[in-house]
Amino acid sequence: MVLDRLGQPLRAAEMRDPEPGPGQLLLEVRACAVCRTDLHVVDGELPRPKLPLVPGHQIVGLTEDGRRLGVPWLGWTDGDCRYCRRGLENLCDRARFTGYDLDGGYADRVVADERFCLPIPDGYTDEQAAPLLCAGLIGYRSLRMAGDAERVGLYGFGASAHIVAQVARHQGRRVFAFTKPDDREGQAFARELGAEWAGGSDRRPPEELDAAILFAPAGELVPTALAALAKGGRVVCAGIHMSDIPSFPYELLWGERQVRSVANLTRADGEEFLTLAPQVPVRTRVEIFPMAEANEALDRLRAGRITGAAVLVP
Ligand SMILES: [Zn+2]
Ligand SMILES: [Zn+2]
Repeated sequence: MVLDRLGQPLRAAEMRDPEPGPGQLLLEVRACAVCRTDLHVVDGELPRPKLPLVPGHQIVGLTEDGRRLGVPWLGWTDGDCRYCRRGLENLCDRARFTGYDLDGGYADRVVADERFCLPIPDGYTDEQAAPLLCAGLIGYRSLRMAGDAERVGLYGFGASAHIVAQVARHQGRRVFAFTKPDDREGQAFARELGAEWAGGSDRRPPEELDAAILFAPAGELVPTALAALAKGGRVVCAGIHMSDIPSFPYELLWGERQVRSVANLTRADGEEFLTLAPQVPVRTRVEIFPMAEANEALDRLRAGRITGAAVLVP
């Protein structure tokens, strides 16, 4: 499925198999999960994706010699910029991202740099494993950035939050879930996954939070979440794109509260999370679509009508 122009639906296309270059693998795509970032790319909310583009960066694929590997968002780094040298390859100046700078997994086959592929843990089907690769991974990095917070608020209970809630519970944290105000189904889903409280994002939680992780791309949630924090608490913005943040009184930030973003992932995040996931064990809830229905899956995600994660299968 190909994106020719921003803001347009993807087009089904017959393409020649991509040719692996030096250090690259050719993988047969078994499943590719849909990420909110794919929506931002298709909708033209991110600067300069490659065009035409095959989106998709949560790929479970099989190598020609039968290994099952994951291809995540981080597709390549230069390895020698000031960020890479400090272990911050997620911030690499020249990083290339799968399904953005590089063709991704909304396809039958994909090529990927072997050094950036991740081993998929046993015990997961291809479809269940796919959302671990970004929803899980970036969610996990966001949770790590929340520090030792005991009371964690998750704003936007979609693909990422449904995984993060399970990891947070496993780590002995307390989870508070925020959904769209009338989303009773989403609130029930959050409680099922261990949230001790779930309610609309317009509501205050029953207790102050030590951290709030924002998965919903709505800037107005930043002051809302700050207002729910205890002193020293942190708001972590997990998405790649967010609407503008409205101004707010300094009082909301006072008391050593912090706001930070999380950008991309490192390979170390990937290895750490994919080792942890089967220990929790993280169980993903997926809605499976045939690859040809990628536009339908994106529309459902845009409308907030996916429970858990949408996954495309060729
Ligand atoms: Zn993603
Ligand atoms: Zn670099």
